[in-house]
Amino acid sequence: MTDSNTSSKPNAEESAVETARRQLERAAAHLEVNEGTVERLRYPKDVYRVTIPVERDDGTTEMFTGYRAHHDSVRGPFKGGLRYHPDVSEDECVGLAMWMTWKCAVMDLPFGGAKGGVVANPKELSESEKERLTRRFAEELRPVIGPMKDIPAPDMGTDPQTMAWFMDAYSMQEGQTEPGVVTGKPPVVGGSYGREGAPGRSVGIVTEEATDFYGWDLEETTVAVQGFGSVGANAARYLDDRGASIVAVSDVDGAIYDPDGFDTNDVEDHDETPGMVSSYDAPESLSNEALLELDVDVLIPAAVGNVLTAENARDVQADMIVEGANGPTTSTADRIFEERDIPVVPDIIANAGGVTVSYFEWLQDINRRSWSLERVNEELRAEMLRAWNAIQTEYENRDVTWRDAAYIVALSRISDAHDSRGLWP
Ligand code: GLU
Repeated sequence: MTDSNTSSKPNAEESAVETARRQLERAAAHLEVNEGTVERLRYPKDVYRVTIPVERDDGTTEMFTGYRAHHDSVRGPFKGGLRYHPDVSEDECVGLAMWMTWKCAVMDLPFGGAKGGVVANPKELSESEKERLTRRFAEELRPVIGPMKDIPAPDMGTDPQTMAWFMDAYSMQEGQTEPGVVTGKPPVVGGSYGREGAPGRSVGIVTEEATDFYGWDLEETTVAVQGFGSVGANAARYLDDRGASIVAVSDVDGAIYDPDGFDTNDVEDHDETPGMVSSYDAPESLSNEALLELDVDVLIPAAVGNVLTAENARDVQADMIVEGANGPTTSTADRIFEERDIPVVPDIIANAGGVTVSYFEWLQDINRRSWSLERVNEELRAEMLRAWNAIQTEYENRDVTWRDAAYIVALSRISDAHDSRGLWP
């Protein structure tokens, strides 16, 4: 499984930090917030860079670079994923940590924002190499993480097994089992039911609310999903179950198209079986780029970051975009969609189901009591609707984009918290 995929490299028009800062400034322009607070939010609190020596299976030693960026913790411990990807960089971790601050605040979770990762291609590592890398990375980060300090989670290239190793390494050194140090673990070691499917599920819930807001009938709605991994496949199946027609899906090798809609349970997602999407016997196959330009009602980019850019934003024919990935739309593309009146429902609410169920997992770990899948899904739905309603109110009252509305909700909560805690000394 990969969770909330983003890589800021392909087609990057600006870095993740630049995008995150620009979005902060746009939201600040709508609010009477203390300028000092906005200035503080432009920077990470800390960025840790570690070197991770790993013994490869052939007995050689390879050095890997890992990062953990802490952005802001005014509302609670730092929270955010760890990704294993060749494009991981300090700048990307800082930008993604800033997005986690807004995401947690939009959802009103008592967490701040963090992100980290290792510059590595997990496909080139064996299981045991991944295990050694993860355990040593956990050890290197041990001084700066903890159940009440900073709680990592899965992201691109990491999964529940990675989190289990991470938790085990941390716990062995602390001398006691600390399930609350990471979320996204397998349920058998304190993970939550429903965590793996949660980001895609929230994309589905928010798409349902957004189509309802515009008075569209879901049964008449066509959807194209770029990236049929954990996020994309769960979103597609959720919407398919509620009557939407999923006409196109893709994996890294290409896209498939059926104007009558797929039975999404027939198409295995690429985490279950890599390569299954593009080898599926479909009426038509397309490139990933062509999928983004299909004439559909809803486009869900759920693969990597920066796929909707100045280059293709004018060719997008969808009537609405719901961001499954983190950061799929560049700032320039965002302005083009605004001009073209194409609503973009932002990542910080759409895929926030992941961190929301992470919060439920953390609560379950602290209380040593597990919740049923039904309870998780019910509470997730309630939290998503609460956040959606807060954003919808700002959208209607201020006549801004959905992204600005989400940032306004997040920033006002963060700024109120900074006002009441103050700047010390
Ligand atoms: N990596 C996920 C995200 O980008 C989840 C983070 C978490 O659960 O802490 O939202």
